Amino acid sequence: MDFDLTEEQRSFQDSVRVFAERNLAEGALARAHDERFPWDVARKMAEAGLFGIMLPEEDGGAGGSLMDAVLAMEQIAYVCPRSADVLQAGNFGAFRTFAEYATPDQKQRFFGRLLRGEAIAAVSMTEPEAGSALTELKSSCTPDGDGYRLNGGKVFTSNTEDAEVFLVYCRFGPGTDGIGSVLVERGQEGFRLGAPSHYMNGETWCALYFDNVYIPPENVLLKEGGFRKQIAGFNVERVGNTTRALALGEYCFRQAKAHAETRRQFGRTLNEFQGIQWKFAEMRVALDAAQLLLYRAATRGANGLPSAQDVAIAKFACNQAGWMSANESLQVMGGTGYSTDLLLEYCVRKTRGWMIAGGSLEIMKNRIAEGVFGRSFSQRPPRARDAG
Ligand SMILES: Cc1cc2nc3c(=O)[nH]c(=O)nc-3n(C[C@H](O)[C@H](O)[C@H](O)COP(=O)(O)OP(=O)(O)OC[C@H]3O[C@@H](n4cnc5c(N)ncnc54)[C@H](O)[C@@H]3O)c2cc1C
Repeated sequence: MDFDLTEEQRSFQDSVRVFAERNLAEGALARAHDERFPWDVARKMAEAGLFGIMLPEEDGGAGGSLMDAVLAMEQIAYVCPRSADVLQAGNFGAFRTFAEYATPDQKQRFFGRLLRGEAIAAVSMTEPEAGSALTELKSSCTPDGDGYRLNGGKVFTSNTEDAEVFLVYCRFGPGTDGIGSVLVERGQEGFRLGAPSHYMNGETWCALYFDNVYIPPENVLLKEGGFRKQIAGFNVERVGNTTRALALGEYCFRQAKAHAETRRQFGRTLNEFQGIQWKFAEMRVALDAAQLLLYRAATRGANGLPSAQDVAIAKFACNQAGWMSANESLQVMGGTGYSTDLLLEYCVRKTRGWMIAGGSLEIMKNRIAEGVFGRSFSQRPPRARDAG
């Protein structure tokens, strides 16, 4: 087992770190407190070739690997935690699932703006009655001429107010096999956004309402039978959430370490107290262990699509390590850490969200247990199962 990065990976890492220090260090705090998407960062990243890292060169990408994108994400987050969301949008998010299955016509129509950092795509899966039980989603597409009519609604879509195109999971027929996805463009007739709500991390989301929205055939991404493919793509998005959670934990660790080396109480620096030393020891173990699991998930995936089991294990470990480290680092920094003058409290709020978003910790554990026992465990009550 080789635990070292290659020369090429190290040099890519360095180049992203230099980009982040030059372009993102200034304004990092203000960006975290701005609920809207930082478009200026998107354009700079796109110009630097940091959008579409995993996309093939013929599609306008850099032809890199999932591991390359993970390394880039870490370097960005260590300097500007909020900017890591921008890298997510340009590499891991809805765009990545879309890119995996897009037709040549869809690539031609959408990729240019997405890769130039002029537009972002959002993923709309969750519905009021279909959260963890995603396959219970009800938004449906019914045939209309060559195309379809979309009816239903979504909640919790990140970047609702800034996205130009929405990758909407919907139903073409009954059961899990009836689920596919379509592209809905902002401003389409019958597509309406509700009033913005705020997440604890400061970002907003709006409910999405689809009232007989016409979906032309060229805006269908995956028809019925597409659900498993979509989740395979979504596992890459999960790696993005996983990486950001861990990287924000590491960001806080570094801030707290510098603070503990200089802050004096009772005539000594904080790092001389064993109670504080042990916090750092526990954080270091959790962060390092989680990073190994993350790198394993990123490097083992065939064709850039990691295994569901590897991702579930990595997400569970990184979500917990990231949040624990952010929270403990804040504690080490006392009132300074709790203040909104620093990014620690933002990182605590942000890492907390990833324990729910993209598949909660509990759902990850369900998935891991299925891998352990080599069988699926229905979460539905026996009577509903018997009734079919
Ligand atoms: C910051 C953030 C960003 C998000 N971004 C998006 C987005 O861009 N697009 C999108 O579509 N959605 C998004 N979501 C929604 C997210 O995917 C859902 O919140 C998540 O899937 C959980 O669904 P729920 O909130 O309905 O909770 P529920 O499904 O109601 O679950 C509530 C609790 O019960 C637990 N639970 C449920 N079922 C089980 C079970 N079988 N076994 C054990 N425990 C269980 C859950 O783990 C959770 O703790 C986002 C959420 C957050 C917090």
